[in-house]
Amino acid sequence: MPHRQRLAILGATGSIGMSTLDVALRHPDRFRVVALTAHRQVERLFQQCLAARPVYAVLNRQEDAAHLQRQLRDVGCPTEVLWGDGALSEVAAAGEVDAVMAAIVGAAGLVPTLAAVRAGKRVLLANKEALVMAGALFMAEVKAHGAVLLPVDSEHNAVFQSLPERRTGDLRENGVRRILLTASGGPFRTTPIEKLQAVTPEEACAHPNWVMGRKISVDSATMMNKGLEVIEACWLFGVPADRIEVVIHPQSVIHSMVSYDDGSVIAELGNPDMRTPIAHALAYPERIAAGVAPLDLCAIGQLSFEKPDFLRFPCLGLAYRALELGGTSPAILNAANEVAVEAFLDGSLPFLAIPRVIAEVLESLDGGAADSLEAILDADARARERALSLLPSRNWRPDES
Ligand code: NAD
Ligand code: MG
Repeated sequence: MPHRQRLAILGATGSIGMSTLDVALRHPDRFRVVALTAHRQVERLFQQCLAARPVYAVLNRQEDAAHLQRQLRDVGCPTEVLWGDGALSEVAAAGEVDAVMAAIVGAAGLVPTLAAVRAGKRVLLANKEALVMAGALFMAEVKAHGAVLLPVDSEHNAVFQSLPERRTGDLRENGVRRILLTASGGPFRTTPIEKLQAVTPEEACAHPNWVMGRKISVDSATMMNKGLEVIEACWLFGVPADRIEVVIHPQSVIHSMVSYDDGSVIAELGNPDMRTPIAHALAYPERIAAGVAPLDLCAIGQLSFEKPDFLRFPCLGLAYRALELGGTSPAILNAANEVAVEAFLDGSLPFLAIPRVIAEVLESLDGGAADSLEAILDADARARERALSLLPSRNWRPDES
């Protein structure tokens, strides 16, 4: 049997993590899952360990790890359970691992993903926040350590599939005119603006096309997700923001496109199911079954497109602003967004206040150079502190600007 790819899934119990395990377990001849990590979902991780029998499992807290270890021992599962942030980086860089699925949500994914990069792994990147926070450093480390970086975010995976296979240097020299990032517009694309103030977390998380974790669902509703993706695309493909165009495409069938100098536009299409980009990244450059139904274009009938509305979705503009400010400003944007989204999800911040909190943090803190992990983590911490200090200081009603 040829060597099986040994896989670590960081954030295994999340939406991307579960889809990754689903695809990997369909191909036991190709993949051996050697590590699974979760924050606190002990029961789900237990079930996953039974299904995949990894060498390592990681949880955040020692008591949860001890509990899971006992449960596994009782059923004869040989998995060793580790705990804490350090263990995430340890398994990401472990000698037994060939490929790492980076699917932790938010800034918490940066350090372990970077550990995988520094160990020269094949890194399947779902955790866009890592690249938003640390783009220049991250890409430099990929190069320095010979890591292979494969995009899992559906838009970036679509762009990757639509770019010329043998390309050298700048995309411009390869006849690429623009990257067209598609966006569904989320659940509030056509909601009357006056109704947005009162929307609930449940409404914001009810995405019309994709089933995702709660944080990215809110990001899709504010369109910060697309803003983060513009920044992600700049780093992944080495292009400036003015060569990336966001196109609203409510059906989410075209996952993104590349427009060429000769007038051609190459797109990747499929059903909105993350197992497609996950399977693509897992097997690249080969193709494997992902359990995804084939696309039925006649049943879909119509594909439509429109321009994004920057007034309705100020978060999109804020992401461009962070790019323009440069340095650690994207890390500040990301951290302020994480704090604001969490406050919205726990009911303490109205939906429309999310961009206002972020704007205030972004404009009030000094971006500084993003030349070391310490500088980036320091900016992240300052932005969180500033955002948290803003939350209780107002009632954030629309009349109070
Ligand atoms: P999720 O909330 O469903 O899952 C997050 C995972 O990370 C869980 O396993 C959780 O236990 C773990 N986690 C959370 N906080 C942690 C911490 N502090 N330390 C260690 N582990 C922690 O999220 P998701 O929707 O699967 O998204 C994961 C990442 O993939 C995000 O960066 C998101 O932007 C990106 N992404 C998701 C989708 C999607 O369809 N869900 C699509 C594209 C990109
Ligand atoms: Mg995406």
